[in-house]
Amino acid sequence: MEECIFCRIAQKKIPCKMIYETDNAMAFLDINPGSSGHTLVIPKKHYDTIDIMPEDEVIDLFKVAIKVMKAVDKVIKPDGINLFQNNKLAAGQIVNHTHIHIFPRFRGDKIDFRWGRVPLDNEDMDRIAELIRGGLE
Ligand code: 5GP
Ligand code: ZN
Repeated sequence: MEECIFCRIAQKKIPCKMIYETDNAMAFLDINPGSSGHTLVIPKKHYDTIDIMPEDEVIDLFKVAIKVMKAVDKVIKPDGINLFQNNKLAAGQIVNHTHIHIFPRFRGDKIDFRWGRVPLDNEDMDRIAELIRGGLE
C-alpha cells in the first residue's frame, strides 16, 4: 500500500482539518493556504495523476469538489474560485497523490495564473488540433 502524505491523511494516520468525506474521496484544508478557505479534494485511493483514475472515481472526486466549492462560496464569500489540478512536477505538482485545489479568489489579490496570450497562426492551430485529435482513445 502507498504511504504518501495524502494516503496517510486518507487513512487517518495523520490529522487534517477535514471538511467532508465519502467512501471514495475527502476534502480538507490545505496546510499552507494560498487564500482563506483553500481546500484540497483527494481520492482516498492513491493515484499519482488524475488521468490514471477510473472514470467513475473521477466523477465522485468532482462531485465532492463541487459540493465543497459551493460551501466555500456560501460561507467564505470570495469574489471568485479557481478549481485547479496539477499533474507532474513541471505543472507544479508537489504531492504525488492526485488532488483538486479549491482556491478562493479575492478582487485585487496578487495571484496571477495568466499567460502571454500570444495567438498562434491558423496553420499551427490546425496542426496542433489534428495532432491532439489523433491522440484520442
Ligand atoms: P500541489 O503543488 O502538489 O498541487 O499541491 C500540494 C498541496 O498540498 C500544497 O498546496 C500544500 O500546501 C498541501 N500540503 C502538503 N502537505 C500537506 C499536509 O500534510 N496536509 C495538508 N492539509 N496539506 C498539505
Ligand atoms: Zn497517496
